[in-house]
Amino acid sequence: MLTAAGIRQKQSLPLEAKIIMAQERIRQWDLFTDGDMYVSFSGGKDSTVLLHLVRSIYPNVPAVFVNTGLEYPEIVRFVRQTENVTWIRPKMRFKDVIEKYGYPVISKEVSQWLSEIATTGSDKLRAKRLRQLSAKWQYMIDAPFKISNKCCDIMKKNPAHAYTKQTGRQPLIGTMACDSAFRKQSIMLHGCNAYGIVNPQSRPLSMWTEGDIWEYIRGFKVPYSEIYDMGYTRTGCMFCMFGLHLEMRKNRGRFERMRHTHPRLYHYCMDNLGLSKVMEWYPQRGYVPQERIQFA
Ligand code: SF4
Repeated sequence: MLTAAGIRQKQSLPLEAKIIMAQERIRQWDLFTDGDMYVSFSGGKDSTVLLHLVRSIYPNVPAVFVNTGLEYPEIVRFVRQTENVTWIRPKMRFKDVIEKYGYPVISKEVSQWLSEIATTGSDKLRAKRLRQLSAKWQYMIDAPFKISNKCCDIMKKNPAHAYTKQTGRQPLIGTMACDSAFRKQSIMLHGCNAYGIVNPQSRPLSMWTEGDIWEYIRGFKVPYSEIYDMGYTRTGCMFCMFGLHLEMRKNRGRFERMRHTHPRLYHYCMDNLGLSKVMEWYPQRGYVPQERIQFA
């Protein structure tokens, strides 16, 4: 099992060493899957680098893109320009997911607890979740909208698992230990190539950092989505509210940027998807979207 110190040591290696390590993981995955593998491709910079790296060894490996309808238009354009990409779709639209189950807010863990507090018939589970829920999020229990952690499963994981089941191909994904504590923990427990978990996956970039990704893109002149030249450092789903509170302290969350770069989509999600009513609960955390300050 990897330790946190072991991960830190590997993260400090030069890019050349990380490329060799990643290529080794990819070759091991090819052996494990007998060549039946695919790159999980989101159109973001990390999976763009992974795809480039994989195809530098195995040029015919397919990429698979889950078209959730939540990606930035620039990402979708970039994916269209990339060769040998299979497009797959979730069974539900985001609008239906939030209506049926609830909005993804704060984090996967907190939205799961809030959802269970609201829906469980078990007093024991409810009491446990109430104990786990941090005091700063207790007020969300009274939110006048549903909250749920189900969105990622329905929109992304289920279509990918269905593709794996249908084709027998196993995924290589571009996640890194530096992305989140959860991903770091998973790498510590299962390694870069997670052979023994329920849904096996290879994570050759586990020890890379954001700086390595850009160094690779520049060094190998890898084409990437224009969204990164518009002030965005992270892409992912446009209308997701996971982690938004961390940006709100500076009063310039991702939605403020979207209001300038994609005004039509901004108004669609605020008004048609009801994100404005969710936002109204955030002033308790010291945030008011600029537009609401101006027109208050
Ligand atoms: S990242 Fe957010 S919006 Fe995207 S699928 Fe997951 S929960 Fe849904």
